[in-house]
Amino acid sequence: MAAYALGVLDEEDHEVFERHLMACEECQLELRELSEVPGFLDAVRRDRSNDLNEDRTPH
Ligand SMILES: [Zn+2]
Repeated sequence: MAAYALGVLDEEDHEVFERHLMACEECQLELRELSEVPGFLDAVRRDRSNDLNEDRTPH
């Protein structure tokens, strides 16, 4: 589940999981809880954009 929330599943796993998610209340709840953790997804995004901007030139 955390792997899904973090967006690290590959395309096939992602699809399989999303299909499962539609039918599984438990996972829907878990996903909602994960996305409500303050800063959780923000922290993930920040980490990823740091990677992307690694070779950005300073002013
Ligand atoms: Zn489930």
